[in-house]
Amino acid sequence: MNILTFDIEEWYIEKYFKGGRKEKYRQYDELLDWILNTLGKNDIKATFFCVGQLAVEFPDVLKRIANAGHEIGSHSNKHLWINRMTPDEFAEDTRIALEKIENLIGKKVKSFRAPAFSIGQDNDWAFEVLAENGIEYDCSVFPTDRDFGGFPQFTSSVPSLVKKGSCILKEFPICPALFIGKVLPFSGGGYFRLVPLWLQKRFIHGMDYVMFYFHINDLIDQNSKFMTKREFEEYFKESGTLKNRIVRYAKTNIGKGGALKKLDVLLEKYMFCNVEQAALSIDWNKQPLIEL
Ligand SMILES: [Zn+2]
Repeated sequence: MNILTFDIEEWYIEKYFKGGRKEKYRQYDELLDWILNTLGKNDIKATFFCVGQLAVEFPDVLKRIANAGHEIGSHSNKHLWINRMTPDEFAEDTRIALEKIENLIGKKVKSFRAPAFSIGQDNDWAFEVLAENGIEYDCSVFPTDRDFGGFPQFTSSVPSLVKKGSCILKEFPICPALFIGKVLPFSGGGYFRLVPLWLQKRFIHGMDYVMFYFHINDLIDQNSKFMTKREFEEYFKESGTLKNRIVRYAKTNIGKGGALKKLDVLLEKYMFCNVEQAALSIDWNKQPLIEL
């Protein structure tokens, strides 16, 4: 089972953190069109996790996705990291995001992904908040170490039931591969850009479950903007030293050329489904139960 997901926030981030450049909006619009056309051509339905604020400020983006029959999930309201929120702040953020998205698309939102996979051991109360707000499927667990998030203590990298308090959620974690004895994420972000096509294919053939995840920016060849100190600190909420900004710039831009072509090849060659389709096809009694 290959699940295809996109995290959609670029228009919002551009407006509030990168200066609202018209040419960037145009570029994002064109890339979204390419994605929707390519999925249509290959008869694939994906899940698009959208920032709630987009539903108010860029409603056309969500409408285009929803009108093409794809699942719309929530990617929080303003793309703030969950591990920097209190439970109350996260509950409020979740409620607002769901309300905005559901009002626009006229459909209940069932799936969620945290910005930067920012649900981990220290804030696993987030699962209860999600369940209490009607979320059924979560895709926020990155079961290894990573910048700004990750949940290395999470012991499953296949679809699992997560029990926290009296709540149960269906979890679709990221699925790192084992390569030369090492755990190697490959199916999204910078990892997808770095891992060559032949190795992507090998992993897909060798695994029963792959969760792909992309941001629009991952697929654009052109390098992202080098942020000013102020922009960096406002967005990442950490010190915008030159070193921090260079490291982040390098990680954001490494291996960018060719990611879109690689995705194009995979979409033509393999079957993909979205989170909701996957959830309905799984016999959950046979999946691991993770009690937190
Ligand atoms: Zn995101």
